[in-house]
Amino acid sequence: MICCIDCFRDTEIRAAIEMVGHRGICPICKKENTWIYDSERDADKTNVEELLDSILEIYVPESGLPALYPEEEKLLIEDRLLKDWNIFSGSSSEVKRLVSEYVSESFELSLKITTERVGIPQLFDESYLKDNSIMGKYSWDIFKKYLRNENRFHSKYINLEILEPILRETETIVPANTKFYRARVSDQKGYSRKEMWAPPDDIASPGRANSKGQSCLYLCSHKKTTVKEIRAHAFDYVTIATFKLNRDVRVLDLSSIVHISPFYSGSDKVAYLLNETTLRQIQNDLAKPMSRLDSDLDYLPTQYISDFAKFLGYDGVKYISTFDNTSYNIALFKSSACDCTYHRNFLIGDLDYKMTAV
Ligand SMILES: [Zn+2]
Repeated sequence: MICCIDCFRDTEIRAAIEMVGHRGICPICKKENTWIYDSERDADKTNVEELLDSILEIYVPESGLPALYPEEEKLLIEDRLLKDWNIFSGSSSEVKRLVSEYVSESFELSLKITTERVGIPQLFDESYLKDNSIMGKYSWDIFKKYLRNENRFHSKYINLEILEPILRETETIVPANTKFYRARVSDQKGYSRKEMWAPPDDIASPGRANSKGQSCLYLCSHKKTTVKEIRAHAFDYVTIATFKLNRDVRVLDLSSIVHISPFYSGSDKVAYLLNETTLRQIQNDLAKPMSRLDSDLDYLPTQYISDFAKFLGYDGVKYISTFDNTSYNIALFKSSACDCTYHRNFLIGDLDYKMTAV
């Protein structure tokens, strides 16, 4: 099998092919003068084989699947691979050719996975799901509905013991002295420094990372983004305060819960596939812009995750700003970790959020 770096999207496989150091024409995607991998010559020089095997070996041909395996989930290997992973960059027919050639040379993979439809039996195996999937046999959407309409505090729809180590991998320290900003729409006089802190417990309104009655200080890494986030209009007055961390804070970085490649960790690839789908949904919910018209109930799923971070002893959660993906937000559970060092009132000049000090 001869393929090239451009047959793949995955950064790990691309790096493994480039490492071999041959250039040439790819017979599969027809790219010229590109990094080539030839399984006959290069198998011992790089780990492409190991990476591909770890994915292909999870698929079982139709004849080996349980009788009750859902019909609509049985697909040809190329379609299943394109649906399940972000590894290949080619069309379905290019993936088919690459995989068929690869499997025909393999001693370990069954040829049947390229001639029959395939599936992954564990995806519908309740005992496997119970032990390996964040959502067990359910889904993030079912969990959200349950949280919203049935029970906020107790749930059999989520496996926290599986979620915990995945979240802990995103732990990050934001060092003391890091500056953040918070803005509030004000009048011409502006708010006092004291009024720029988070509202105290009991009167705190609900937000992305806190329930009603739980004080939480929302801070942003960039001054202009914080003004966008409060949806100030032209000719509004806004007070912007600068906060500086007075100690290192330990937060979960919820903007990095989705992995870039399945090959970074040696974990079970089926569990990875299952949980990655859930993590992507959690991340999408965190990044979803909320408007003033949205119901407080829309915050429940992300409140649930950030409550869990609080329960695990973290100082806060970090996530990408929905208004500017180069800025990030921190929801700090304990506002004593920072000092308000400066505050000033501004007049919003126009909708580009140019600001004039007043
Ligand atoms: Zn190619």
